[in-house]
Amino acid sequence: MARTEKKGLVDSAADSGLDPVSVLPGVGPALQAALQRIGITRIQDLWFHLPLRYEDRTRLTPIRDLRVGESAQVEGTVEAVERSFRFRPQLRVVISDDARTMLTLRFFNFRRSQVEQMNSGTRLRCYGQIRHGTQGPEIVHPQYQRVTDAGVEVEESLTAIYPSTEGLGQKRIASLIELALRKLPGDEVLELVPRALRKDLHMLSLRAALLLVHRPPADADVAALLLGTHPAQQRLAFEELLSHHLSLRQLRMQIRRHGAPRLRGNGKLRKALIKSLPFQLTAAQQRVSAEIAKDIADAQPMLRLVQGDVGSGKTIVAAWAALAAVESGFQVALMAPTELLAEQHLRNLGTWLAPLGIEPVWLAGKVQGKARAAALAALAGDAQLVVGTHALMQQAVQFRDLGLVIIDEQHRFGVHQRLALRDKGRDGDRVPHQLVLTATPIPRTLAMTAYADLDVSVIDELPPGRTPVTTVALSSSRRGEVIERIRLACAEGRQVYWVCTLIEESEQLEAQAAEVAHAELTGLLDGIPIGLVHGRLKPAEKQAVMDAFRSGRIALLVATTVIEVGVDVPNASLMVIENAERLGLAQLHQLRGRVGRGGQASSCVLLYQPPLSAMARERLTAMRETSDGFVIAEKDLELRGPGELLGTRQTGRLEFRIADLARDAALLVEVQRIGTLMSEQHPELCERLVARWIGAASQFANA
Ligand code: ADP
Ligand code: MG
Repeated sequence: MARTEKKGLVDSAADSGLDPVSVLPGVGPALQAALQRIGITRIQDLWFHLPLRYEDRTRLTPIRDLRVGESAQVEGTVEAVERSFRFRPQLRVVISDDARTMLTLRFFNFRRSQVEQMNSGTRLRCYGQIRHGTQGPEIVHPQYQRVTDAGVEVEESLTAIYPSTEGLGQKRIASLIELALRKLPGDEVLELVPRALRKDLHMLSLRAALLLVHRPPADADVAALLLGTHPAQQRLAFEELLSHHLSLRQLRMQIRRHGAPRLRGNGKLRKALIKSLPFQLTAAQQRVSAEIAKDIADAQPMLRLVQGDVGSGKTIVAAWAALAAVESGFQVALMAPTELLAEQHLRNLGTWLAPLGIEPVWLAGKVQGKARAAALAALAGDAQLVVGTHALMQQAVQFRDLGLVIIDEQHRFGVHQRLALRDKGRDGDRVPHQLVLTATPIPRTLAMTAYADLDVSVIDELPPGRTPVTTVALSSSRRGEVIERIRLACAEGRQVYWVCTLIEESEQLEAQAAEVAHAELTGLLDGIPIGLVHGRLKPAEKQAVMDAFRSGRIALLVATTVIEVGVDVPNASLMVIENAERLGLAQLHQLRGRVGRGGQASSCVLLYQPPLSAMARERLTAMRETSDGFVIAEKDLELRGPGELLGTRQTGRLEFRIADLARDAALLVEVQRIGTLMSEQHPELCERLVARWIGAASQFANA
């Protein structure tokens, strides 16, 4: 679409937003490069670089008033400093305030100089999230400063915390935004949604909203700002949702314009596959297969999302679709988000397809040297099917004739990655069909926004004979009993998962927690072969452990949430999830889906640290009461929101700056209405809006 800008005063004023950030004083090449890493190249990118959250440093909270789960600023005097090396180095600093109540500060990474600073009697001001510790409240890795006699003032208004990157401190970003805001034009220039469309919404002006979120005044509604429901945040969320909606609309339109190979086939391979299976497809699997077959027989590219609960049998549907492409002489690529999952697909497909004379090619990051050269040659030559990770999207990968792209667990990949793989199969105007598999059950309203570029099929039935997993929630004080239960289960030849979780979104800390649990369980469960798998292991190490578990050489597998996605070991029939109260429902459900896959009765123990928050209690209750993914999804949406539901909170995929699909769901109806009007009446404004929020190099330019 050509940009049709009107000439005149208004547009030249708007241009200050399009100026490069280098026009700001002090922005040289190094800083420019750092900014670019977080998507900031122009002045307007700074205007729209919105706070990730706020920290309330406007007051000090007395230690006795601290509430678990909340973040707070506390001041106190160091009472005790303790270093220990149980399993790993740790520094514990106990402080107390005037009321003589104690707070523990815990550090896992620290420097000697830090320890030396913490003499008893030193006054510290710290900020962080309060957790339930063994000796009362604690903060892990607080931000802190020493307070001298003169004292330190508290802040007057909320502190905005911005998304950042290495080498770019919060102060630096905040000061750049401040400089950019001085160039913020009036609403007549800034607003891209025409007034006529906006007027029924009764929203703040864009300029007022931006100024407020960047510099909340001292008298602003703090509670609303912290929750993201302030009218200024809602105004911006509306605009962000609108631009995402418009961009997905554009994407869909562009994709539909391409042609695609007609994958009709003669059905021989598919029939042979079905005949060879030890089970019958469920009615839901048959229906979804038929939907896919109809789509790919068409000369328009399919864009279909197959949604099915954990264990609903999406893989066989994918294999069946793959055969339709192979029958038609085209190649198929199956991509999974982790090596673990990709290898599992390779194994499953290998078993199913080898008797039909089809050998899947394997391509992942660790495939190097001769093996890699051979794989690449096969893809450019007569390979029929390739299974792999994102390595499939590398430049060197070329296909002979890619007709179908299958992507598992879509929420781990972004729209871009989907397109990147598809473009491997581009042939003039012809692109491959795309099939996306996800275990994340998404309520309809949400699906329309999150996957507006896809058609959706649902496998809403589990294969017969599955016994629901019995779920109990136990306080961590009963850990000993649970460990005994593991001993008994292993004695009966059952296999067990022990899942460690941490609240910090840090793979490193989570891996450490798993190491600690592994050491502890090894000490307590003498004679039981125990394995450990976490995200920091090398792929080969991970694979070796998983193989040992699958083959039964390991009876108990201690794992982090890396096993959340797709791992299939039918003999595992007991799962213990530590600190289950910390996980969202969707994640708990995914994890639990790893058991109950074989014939035997399975159970899941949710260990929690009391006291439970009301929300955590509801989550654990929901887990006990149902194993239906859709019921859980609705409950999750009600309780917490789609961040977890879409799996974006952990992975940051959907990448909203300010919007939150659940919190702001009420805006979606208007977003769709105005989106339709805008794309019909003001295509050029749509384009500018999308560029402003989603990126200048209009990401879908070649879709
Ligand atoms: P998911 O949808 O979670 O990816 P999978 O495709 O891994 O589920 O299937 C889970 C298990 O169920 C696999 O072991 C698979 O072979 C088996 N399975 C799939 N479809 C059926 C069916 N119709 N009847 C019985 N077992 C099935
Ligand atoms: Mg799967």
